[in-house]
Amino acid sequence: MSGVTSTPDPSSARLPERAAVVDLEAIRHNVRVVRTVAEPARVMAVVKADAYGHGAVPVARAALEAGAAWLGVAHISEALTLRAAGIEAPTLAWLHTADSNFSAAVGAGVDLGCSGWELSRIVDAAREQQRPARVHLKIDTGLGRNGVTPDRWEQVLDEATEYQDAGLLRVVGVFSHLAVADEPDRPETDVQLEVFRDAVALAEDAGCDLEVRHIANSPAIFSRPDTHFDLVRAGISIYGLSPFPDQSAHDLGLRPAMTLRTLVSQSKRVPAGQGVSYGLTYRTPGESALGLIPLGYADGIPRTSNGGPVRIAGTTYRVVGRVAMDQMVVDLGPDADVEAIAGSEAVLFGTGDDGGPTADDWARAANTINYEIVTRISQRVPRIHVDSRPAPLTESAEHAVATRAGGVA
Ligand SMILES: *Cc1c(COP(=O)(O)O)cnc(C)c1O
Repeated sequence: MSGVTSTPDPSSARLPERAAVVDLEAIRHNVRVVRTVAEPARVMAVVKADAYGHGAVPVARAALEAGAAWLGVAHISEALTLRAAGIEAPTLAWLHTADSNFSAAVGAGVDLGCSGWELSRIVDAAREQQRPARVHLKIDTGLGRNGVTPDRWEQVLDEATEYQDAGLLRVVGVFSHLAVADEPDRPETDVQLEVFRDAVALAEDAGCDLEVRHIANSPAIFSRPDTHFDLVRAGISIYGLSPFPDQSAHDLGLRPAMTLRTLVSQSKRVPAGQGVSYGLTYRTPGESALGLIPLGYADGIPRTSNGGPVRIAGTTYRVVGRVAMDQMVVDLGPDADVEAIAGSEAVLFGTGDDGGPTADDWARAANTINYEIVTRISQRVPRIHVDSRPAPLTESAEHAVATRAGGVA
């Protein structure tokens, strides 16, 4: 459901009636910002969960074009999707089960995060593929999710280096994940870093020739330079959203890449006291007009959101009443021009330019975080990839030549 159109302005494109429009130049811009902040560390673009809902393959390509050196995903299946699209950049997958296809990962040259228990399976896969696996050992420095606990680290290193000596795998990375980096002053990050440095030193002493050491996520990239090591794993920031509650994307120099838009399905005048949507939890306070927005919880709009913003013809209105499966309603007020509004574009969130609503506004309305707002937009909403990158000079010069020569450009 995605294609790249060359139009710079999403609103002027021929778009499906519902669309999550993703500007690939915004992705590139954000990757360049992250690269500058993280230098000399390199950047892994985290494109798990279909690139936080933005479309994994086009986003991965744009991120690599902008200088990301690595791609990161949770599941092996997500890495295989990238490989199937012809993307050969170094790729790490870090969340597995006993049913994960380690053999396919090794065969496709996908690096594997390893929390210890996977080692024997990874080695089986390497034997099957007759190719050494590339492994990043994960130390649980305090988040309490996956990873080897510090007390078992040396035991896992022994096992891994034995397999390494047998030519079945190479430990190319040590990594971990931070718990509270979005609150830069909390002391737990310092504790995690100390555990991480010790784990790296032990791995190196054990004979691991590490290409990369990595622990930083987006909040750590911007708030804790001491977490950068060789590689940073940037997720939310490459989508142009801030990982901090008290700093906007704009404050960080980031550009939100996704615009969620549709058209007003119907607008009509209603009397005072008109009830709206299931449960009639809202009634118009006076004579008013209502606008019907054809997006609902089946499209990924949280049903629990309260007063989410919708921008129509330069004015931001609030959703009233319950969000239903397919639709929701905004109160347009008594002075609305209902004829003009019917069929107009309705933007739920986007770049935030000109005071328009953002994913952060919807996160506040739904009592969640911007990560969830963009990632949960469902497959019923087509992703449309646009590219606001100005055409390179050489291309327009070629275009001019072709036009003069009577060619069809
Ligand atoms: C999702 C994820 C990231 C990216 O986090 P952001 O806060 O979105 O930058 C990094 N590392 C791991 C292990 C992750 O699961």
